[in-house]
Amino acid sequence: MEAYSPLQVIGEGSFGRALLVLCNSNQKKYVVKEIQLPKNSSKLENWRREAILLSRMKHSNIVAFREAFEADDLLCIVMEYCSGGDLLQRIQQQKTTQFSVDDVLKWFAEMCAGAKHIHDKRVLHRDLKSKNIFLTDNGTIKLGDFGSACVLNSSRAYAHSYIWDNKPYNNKSDVWSLGCVLYELCTLRHPFQASSWKSLILKVCRGAYPPLPKHLPYELQYLVKQMFKTNPKDRPSLHTILTSHRVSRLLRSHL
Ligand code: ADP
Ligand code: MG
Repeated sequence: MEAYSPLQVIGEGSFGRALLVLCNSNQKKYVVKEIQLPKNSSKLENWRREAILLSRMKHSNIVAFREAFEADDLLCIVMEYCSGGDLLQRIQQQKTTQFSVDDVLKWFAEMCAGAKHIHDKRVLHRDLKSKNIFLTDNGTIKLGDFGSACVLNSSRAYAHSYIWDNKPYNNKSDVWSLGCVLYELCTLRHPFQASSWKSLILKVCRGAYPPLPKHLPYELQYLVKQMFKTNPKDRPSLHTILTSHRVSRLLRSHL
């Protein structure tokens, strides 16, 4: 850690904490995510997975990895600092003022581009939500927090199509999650809200959500509906959303 001077804590979670730091050699700001490694664990590889997977991603809509190192029982992941904070904070700042359709389309197109890169590398993010999606100072979307991500390894490759289509956590789970973020951008509310777990699960399983405001483009309303389809197979892939879905022309004009 001698190479970096801590400035402030910007996030705290079960893993440890996220620190804003200054790099002593180039005077640039970075974020260091510190993860407490368990002592004497035979499964240290699992804990290192977040750093390994993030380091494999190179895309303008994914938080850029700088380096990772271990000090005592801390794993430190150094990454690009997204000074616009996370999208949940951004949504909460709006209070009741809706985002413009142009902002929604631009951010959503960028999220899809980042998530498609992850899927193209045969990785699933598995925790896409507004709190794990960051903004840079110029308003560019960056997907972050690879703490739940997993890889479909090559020994399973022969079963690729089977796993890809049928696993409970598959690429279509990430599509469903991005549908929730898109809905939140359109309404400033989560699509599935309930007073108990039981009624929440029922709503999710039925795909029952309050309709989107009427002023939104029809393509967007249709897309949300497709992304929330109960059967994962009926949801579009990110490739389809970006290239051949009814909304793709709208999205591409915002990329
Ligand atoms: P956790 O595993 O606890 O969810 P995250 O990687 O999501 O850890 O980081 C926690 C919080 O720290 C984020 O929700 C965000 O507010 C902040 N944060 C993390 N990484 C960055 C970053 N690269 N730029 C700006 N803020 C960040
Ligand atoms: Mg997080």
